Amino acid sequence: MKKTVLSFALVFAAFFSCQQDDLKELKKGSVPDDIIGKLQAAGFDTSEGLMKYRNGYLVEYDILLTESEINELAESKSAASHGRVKHYRTTNLVTAPGRIKIHMDPGFDTHMQNAFDAALARYNSESLALSFERWYTSSTADIRIIAFYENSNVLGFSSGFPSGSKPASSISLNTFHYNGTQRADATTVIAHEIGHAIGFRHTDYMNRSFSCGAGGNEGSAGVGAVHIPGTPTAPSANSWMLACSNGTDRPFTTEDKAALCTTYAFGKEELYVIANNNWNGVDHSNGWRYTVICSDWSNPEAMASTSGYVFTVKDGELYRTDVNTYDGATISLGSGWGGTEAMTGGGGYVYAVQGGELWKTNGTTGATVSLGGGWSGTEAITVMGGYVYAVQGGEFWKTDVNTGSSVSLGSGWEGTTAMTSYNGYIYTAHGGHLYRTDTNGNTISLGSWWTNTTAMTTYGGYIFIAQGGQLWKLNPNDINTIPSLGAWNGVQVMTGLQ
Ligand SMILES: [Zn+2]
Repeated sequence: MKKTVLSFALVFAAFFSCQQDDLKELKKGSVPDDIIGKLQAAGFDTSEGLMKYRNGYLVEYDILLTESEINELAESKSAASHGRVKHYRTTNLVTAPGRIKIHMDPGFDTHMQNAFDAALARYNSESLALSFERWYTSSTADIRIIAFYENSNVLGFSSGFPSGSKPASSISLNTFHYNGTQRADATTVIAHEIGHAIGFRHTDYMNRSFSCGAGGNEGSAGVGAVHIPGTPTAPSANSWMLACSNGTDRPFTTEDKAALCTTYAFGKEELYVIANNNWNGVDHSNGWRYTVICSDWSNPEAMASTSGYVFTVKDGELYRTDVNTYDGATISLGSGWGGTEAMTGGGGYVYAVQGGELWKTNGTTGATVSLGGGWSGTEAITVMGGYVYAVQGGEFWKTDVNTGSSVSLGSGWEGTTAMTSYNGYIYTAHGGHLYRTDTNGNTISLGSWWTNTTAMTTYGGYIFIAQGGQLWKLNPNDINTIPSLGAWNGVQVMTGLQ
């Protein structure tokens, strides 16, 4: 029989199924037609899971909307059709980047408290522009998860969607169902209600029979529900935002992750790191990381920055990312870049060694000229003050960016793993040392604890070094105190914004 379905809001488990028809009757007479009309205009399914409840109406089983919130959603109809057409979300989102403090009522049992922590960890592992933190003071929390006891079929609900760029302020869970019951879907239910609070709608809003075994879509599709690019328009199997639970845990699916990332990506940072094939922005002051490009960025070959853009080579293409956009808008500047050995940026140009040539590419137009050949085996490169500095063939070369003519500043540099430049000096990781070299080739060691340095860059007067599973922030004027910006494994390429 089809009614053995658990809803987030209403339990239709086998032992309750006999009550379902009673409930339908109950709700039918209790919601005024004009409310139903407005909900439908805002794209909600009103055929199931709708009833008058407390100070508003319970919609799609678990979203509690007051009459004014319903009016607002219905009026946002035109905004939605002209807004960013982007799984489904509302037109209201939470201001990002931001930290969301969530308090959970201590009245919930250990199983629920653990599920709460697991739900937050699930979100935080996505490196979104929103981070989620357990907060112990109810009065200063952004979202309160409230325990209430009611001998009813209501499991719980989110009090609406974001408003005024803040998350919905409360989530209510019925301890009649959620204390002492050890439910397997506890983490998913909490993550689901948080999903509503930050603007996500039901994944299967267009056809709720997909998860609920009943219902359909009476709303005008596409109104008030904005499709998120890169996610299916059809119901998304096992999504955390399906309207009804099947009683099992539903971790984020690949499509869920795409929906979260696309909605809450964040590009406006100062440091950019590709690690484990993820394209991240990093706050250079506190090390917080955000996903900038949501798609897989495997096998990146090189990364550089100039003119406020970030350039990467991947799969033989040179890409340019506009990090002034929140979602890291990225275009290809052309192919033929396979086997790029090293890349740097400055003064509006990107300099790259590929196919044995040193190429100079205009960061705006993508136009490329060769500065000459003989560059096979280049180990590291940086640009400063009209010269490209590079280690190739064991020599430390200084090359004029306009003529391509080179002079050697010294030899013995085989095995250099990273290079950057700042304020008249070139910094080089070589043989476990960090060396500082002036523009005439005079070199001193700044320390010998830099074995296995994989990438190095500068921003804002600091040198950032990926080494030993950490991202270090070095002040060149204070080399004895080197704070870590946190654990970073699998760093492939890195650049500071230039
Ligand atoms: Zn829901």
